[in-house]
This record gives sequence, structure tokens and C-alpha cells, in this order.
Amino acid sequence: MTAEIISVGTELLLGTTVDSNAATLGQALARHGITCRHRQTVGDHLGRLTEALQLALSRSDLVITIGGLGPTQDDLTREGIAAALGLPLVAQPALEKHLRAEFERRGLRWVESNLRQTMLPEGAEALSNPHGTAPGLWCESGDKIVTALPGPPREFGPMVAGPLGERLAAKSGSEPIQTRTLKVVGVGESRVEELLADLMAGSHPTLAPYAKTGEVHLRLAAQGSQAAADAVFDPVEAVIRERLGWHVVGRDDESLESRVLDLLASRGETLAVAESLTGGQVVERLCRIPGASRVLVGGVVAYVNTVKRDLLGVQPNTLQEFTAVSGETACEMAEGVRNKLGAAWGLSTTGVAGPGPDSEGHPEGLVFIGLAGPNSTASERHVFGLGREINRARAAQAALIRIYRDLVHI
Ligand code: ATP
Ligand code: MG
Repeated sequence: MTAEIISVGTELLLGTTVDSNAATLGQALARHGITCRHRQTVGDHLGRLTEALQLALSRSDLVITIGGLGPTQDDLTREGIAAALGLPLVAQPALEKHLRAEFERRGLRWVESNLRQTMLPEGAEALSNPHGTAPGLWCESGDKIVTALPGPPREFGPMVAGPLGERLAAKSGSEPIQTRTLKVVGVGESRVEELLADLMAGSHPTLAPYAKTGEVHLRLAAQGSQAAADAVFDPVEAVIRERLGWHVVGRDDESLESRVLDLLASRGETLAVAESLTGGQVVERLCRIPGASRVLVGGVVAYVNTVKRDLLGVQPNTLQEFTAVSGETACEMAEGVRNKLGAAWGLSTTGVAGPGPDSEGHPEGLVFIGLAGPNSTASERHVFGLGREINRARAAQAALIRIYRDLVHI
């Protein structure tokens, strides 16, 4: 079965919205073993949308549209599909009832234009949209299938994983591609490649490294059922873990931050964070994990010296003698936040995000991480590179790696 994606929206052509949905969908199609041969992007214009659909139907078995299913005048996907298939749009009383109930439940005011969302090409079925009001649609006509999903990514993603995914699995006829991702920290991509060269040459499963910010992701992939894929992943994962040791921080949904929280929770210990150049990024990453409050007591963004001194108790002498960008300040920040917030551990970041050196001449990308644990306090020094955002992200990553290493006793 061959597929084609049509992204609908003038904002995509103008480049004001990046077409992340098409990327999500491309990955989902590959996972289902469906070959995606073409992608088109078309503005909110009925004639051009109909033409795009006709072209797609002439060469692909399955056509998936993204966006333009809402209630407004520029949402034309339903009309386009009906026109391309030569089918009338038919009102669906059951959909109307559902939509009216949904508006009432959410306390939204009903407007008549919503009725457009309850029309489907003749013979089409609605695809439920648990995170929004506009349902998707699935229409089989002859040997072709046209399916449409709404544009907002937080509606689109769950629909691809849920109702659309189920239908793709049923229709594809080929085995799905299963993947497993191992997250690796504290070692560079080339070293990982060197250590795993023999496994990367294999094809069942395939193994490929992807460099992320301060992290390498190892993606294993194999075609077949989940159970069959697990059977080929498990021994390869065991070899990777044996060779890379503590560097393998987690797998799939596990992340560096979730592992830090789990390790601390299993010891019954708490964490407080003091951040300068990362401005809250470390805390933000930890807060994303459900249940973070078991471990994370809080954080202080101590951006300027006076806050480092007054809120965290960094000694004026330390700031004067060693400056804010120093291992000494990092240690006092970590100890200060641990003591002030009453946590077992204190973690800190301080450094020069850039662009350019700071007023004391420290180079852009110079970062110190401080860690005050139950038994000792230490700092470490990093020199990252150029670029404010990357330096801040790498500093947050380094801070989390620092405490992770201590927790696994490296
Ligand atoms: P709505 O009911 O919200 O109008 P819709 O199906 O009509 O849903 P659109 O109007 O096309 O969707 O887009 C809604 C939002 O989703 C917009 O903010 C748009 O920028 C975003 N969006 C649309 N298509 C994509 C895409 N392919 N990738 C990422 N974002 C998208
Ligand atoms: Mg819309």
C-alpha cells in the first residue's frame, strides 16, 4: 500500500508554521510498514486543494490530509475531499448531537458554523478526536482511501497514535516496524559508534545512533510483532548495556531527568536546584515528569550576584575573589540552596551563555556545575561552544548528568 500526505494551510506555505504533523505522520506510516511516496503542501483554497487530492488519488492508494477541518470559512478539507471523490457532503445527526453535547460539557458557546464539522462525504466515517471538537474522517471509495485529520498538533498526534493508527494497522497488510530507543549520556557519538560498530553493521535489528544535545540516542528497529521484535531487541540491548555501562541512562519513555528522580526517590532523598545561566531549565525538565514532587522540593533562579549572595548565601568574598563563574561559587550555590530549601541534595549551574565573553573576560560557554550531596560538595568545569541556547541547554544537561553519575556511584 502506498500513501501520500497532503498538508493543508496557507501558514505552512508562508513558513509561519512548521509542518511537524507531516513528520509525525511519516514516522507512523513507516512504523506501520506503509510506503509514503509523496507529500504535498497546499494553501487554504478549494480549487487547489481539490487538484492536489486528485493528483494524489491518481498515484497513491491512501491519501491523508492534515488540517482544515475546523468550523471556519478557510477550513475547506471536507469540501475538497467530497469534490475530488465526486461525492456529496451529507449531514450527520449523530455527529451533531455529539458535538453539541461536547460544547455544553466544556461550557463553550454553540455557533451555527459548527454544523460544517458535522458534514461528511457520503459513505465516510468520522474518526473520533478525544482532544478537540473537529472529528477526523475516513472515506473508502473504490480501491482508494482518503482520510483527514485536524491540524492542531495536540489533537493530531493522539489521533495518529489512536484511531488512525488502528485503521492503518488493519489496512497495511505488512508487518509493523517496531523500535526501541536507548538514551546514552556522558560519552560522544563517535566513541559510541566505535564501541558498537559490530552491532551497527547488523540488520536484524538495525541499530543507528542519533546525536542529541549532550546525549546520544540509539535506535533499534525490527519488523514484526511487538513480541518478535522484543525477542531480537533484548539480547542486543543487553550487549549495549554491558559495553556502555552507566552511560545507558534509560530506554524509550525513560529520560535522564526521570532516572534522576527515580534514583533519588528510591533512596528517599530530595533535591533543590539553584540556577544561573540555565534560568530554570533544570527545574523545568524535572517538573515535566509526573510525580516530581516526591523528590524536587524547589529551585531558585539566581541570575545576578546579589541574588546569589542574599538568597543562597554565597559569600561576598567568594564572588569577589573567584567571580560568579567559578567552581567556588557553584559549590556555595549548591550548598546554599540545599540548606535554604532543606533538601538532601543541592545542584547548581553558573556560567557564560553568551554571545561573547562576560564582563570579567570569561569565555562564552564556560560553565560550572555544583553538587552538594549528603556527604560532600564538588564542582566541575565545562567549556561548551558558541551559541546561547545550546550553552544553556548543555549546562542543564551537564547538571543532570552530574547528579545522575553521583547517584549511580561513578
Ligand atoms: P481547527 O478546528 O483548530 O481550525 P483544523 O483542522 O482546521 O483545526 P487548521 O485550521 O488547519 O486545523 O490548523 C489549526 C492549528 O494547527 C493552526 O495553529 C496551525 O498552524 C496548526 N497546524 C495545522 N497544520 C499543521 C501541521 N501540518 N503541522 C503543525 N501544525 C499545524
Ligand atoms: Mg482551522
